[in-house]
Amino acid sequence: MTSSPVWVISGPSAVGKGTVCARLRTLHPEPFYSVSMTTRRARPGEVEGKSYHFVSIDEFRDLIANGELLEYAEVHGNYYGTPRRPVLAAVAEGRPVILEIDLQGARQVKKNLPEARLVFLSPPSWDELVSRLRGRGTEDDESMARRLATAKVELAQVGEADHEIVNVSIDETVDALVSLMGL
Ligand code: 5GP
Repeated sequence: MTSSPVWVISGPSAVGKGTVCARLRTLHPEPFYSVSMTTRRARPGEVEGKSYHFVSIDEFRDLIANGELLEYAEVHGNYYGTPRRPVLAAVAEGRPVILEIDLQGARQVKKNLPEARLVFLSPPSWDELVSRLRGRGTEDDESMARRLATAKVELAQVGEADHEIVNVSIDETVDALVSLMGL
């Protein structure tokens, strides 16, 4: 049983999850926004402890072994995981929790915290997703191909979500989230 809502925001790479969550956080700083651990390298502009906690594979393995992750998954060849303690502390305080994670992780969260609500952000179209990923300019060809292959699988699983929002514009999506979450 959780005493405050846990919102899991998922959706394919480059759909705009990060931008949407950053805007939501600026407008509504009161929920607890989880900062994930990852073994991937920081992109230019990413800040340790804000964007992610960047760790080595060995450090990540220790976190798993010590039960310190609420969920974790290998995504596009790197590991990502949600630190357990801060989430449970926020839940105990009655603060809403927002996790921005992939669908594999979302499933694990729903298993551990059945009351968690999964919100899936979809792109307006496949072509739009490809163009957003290209436009981001952060991925090489191999990484692009891997992310698009994963996106295809994830889009086919949207039915698992409690809510779907088509991310046409950041403003509309943030408005939809604010009203859904009652912020
Ligand atoms: P990126 O490398 O583009 O920042 O993230 C790649 C994918 O990993 C995205 O789908 C993102 O939502 C997901 N992700 C980020 N943090 C976590 C996490 O803690 N757990 C899981 N399972 N996925 C995560």
